[in-house]
Amino acid sequence: TMGTVALDAAGNLSGMCTTSGMGFKMRGRVGDSPIIGAGLYVDNEVGAVTCSGQGEEVIRMCGSHLVVEFMRQGMTPTEACRRAVERIIKRDPVKAKDFQVGFIALNRRGEVGAFSVQKGFSYTVTSATIQNKVYKAESYFS
Ligand code: ASP
Repeated sequence: TMGTVALDAAGNLSGMCTTSGMGFKMRGRVGDSPIIGAGLYVDNEVGAVTCSGQGEEVIRMCGSHLVVEFMRQGMTPTEACRRAVERIIKRDPVKAKDFQVGFIALNRRGEVGAFSVQKGFSYTVTSATIQNKVYKAESYFS
């Protein structure tokens, strides 16, 4: 999945995501990316979130919506992503060792954060002062 979240000069948030789905998926499978609240969620009062990884796990938790709601409660983008990852892992900690889910989040103040189940989830930030800088998200399993 490729996802982007953005904040424009007028203070408006937006987001997008696109995916080819999972390899060897069942015919007709619908992943998280086309489901608003799962693979993508934007609330102009709070923040914008998108994610990549095992879509079934994200759909179950309404993952991107969950991250936005955590930010609404006052968490930083990274903290909100971490809490959503922990919620997903808690459902099945054994299975979670074998899948990846990573969230990126942006809040109204332009603060960016990310967190993933497994290491290796990276994202790029571009702003007035940062040009295409690549960051590695912190992960639950190292
Ligand atoms: N999230 C996508 C899906 O489950 C897979 C991906 O991250 O590429 O369909």
